[in-house]
Amino acid sequence: MNLKSLTLPELADIFKELGQPAFRAKQVYTWLHKGVRSYEQMTNLPKELRELLERQYPICPPEAVRRQESRRDGTIKYLWRLSDGNCVETVLMRYHYGNTVCISTEVGCRMGCAFCASTLGGLVRRLEPQEMLDQVLFTQVDSGLPVSHIVLMGIGEPLDNFDNVLRFLELVNSPEGMNISMRHISLSTCGLVPKIDALAERKLQLTLSVSLHAPNDEIRNRIMPVNKAYPMEQLLEACRRYYQATSRRISFEYAMIRGVNDSQDNARELLERMKGLPAHFNLIPLNHVEESPLQPSTRGAVAAFQKTLEDGGIPATVRRTLGGDIDASCGQLRRNYTRQTEKREP
Ligand code: SAH
Repeated sequence: MNLKSLTLPELADIFKELGQPAFRAKQVYTWLHKGVRSYEQMTNLPKELRELLERQYPICPPEAVRRQESRRDGTIKYLWRLSDGNCVETVLMRYHYGNTVCISTEVGCRMGCAFCASTLGGLVRRLEPQEMLDQVLFTQVDSGLPVSHIVLMGIGEPLDNFDNVLRFLELVNSPEGMNISMRHISLSTCGLVPKIDALAERKLQLTLSVSLHAPNDEIRNRIMPVNKAYPMEQLLEACRRYYQATSRRISFEYAMIRGVNDSQDNARELLERMKGLPAHFNLIPLNHVEESPLQPSTRGAVAAFQKTLEDGGIPATVRRTLGGDIDASCGQLRRNYTRQTEKREP
């Protein structure tokens, strides 16, 4: 068990069993959530306690095996090696409103989206709550940049790792920990309908992002296998329920793929489908993935699509691409690293 996956009350229980006073639990919790790499750094703890914790609950911080920094916009991308040797990536983006960390929630992904590099090798395993927290903590420690916003848009499908993701949110939101407001957190899903309903029940103030990427089932089935389990109408119904339960406007992601989902007809059909659902669209020019024949839309097609949505009353922004010079998207760093090491160790 890793102490960093525990909430403060749970940690307090462990310290009680160890015969330690309650304030020690709070001290340790605070240190752990600062991203210390060893108990030795916990200077206000008695030496014997530090040694006992080191023996029973080693911290096992992730190791940065790759670090790339964009010269253009300061985006930093990390590839972390976890304690079992698996790797995940984290991206730090510098926006005017604050430093934002994009974290992975799984090692690999089983959703199979046709345009995505993270899913090419399938799902290896889900991340523990502390492994998600560590990405935020150690990105902050390594970069020296205070993190104020988090997006769950890295490798993996957060709602396919529901319990661990919810626990991570509780940890990162805790006042004694990083104290990051739910309003500064976005969670992105490919559209697991029952899990969207389960999330709605929690009434969290985070932003739900739904990866829609298509105006109809025919196109969505082609690029997102999850649509066969939860077709678009069911998904949009779940979004309506989510909005009713939380009063939080949903943000929709739409990766613009040349000749697949980017025509004016597609935009008009999308407008029609979205009627009555308060939404915001993020149009993302597709990031080309080597293994895939899909190509990004032209700038003109993206602009025309945006205009049609906006004219129809749906706010749409074209996502600025950051870190274009450093493979900073969706599983590409892990993929390239795994390929290189596979070549070296056949
Ligand atoms: N599994 C979650 C979150 C991870 S992906 C989800 O599907 O939402 C984060 C976003 O990046 C998703 O909208 C995903 O569809 C998109 N994405 C994946 N590969 C992409 C690519 N090659 N180009 C542009 N967007 C991509």
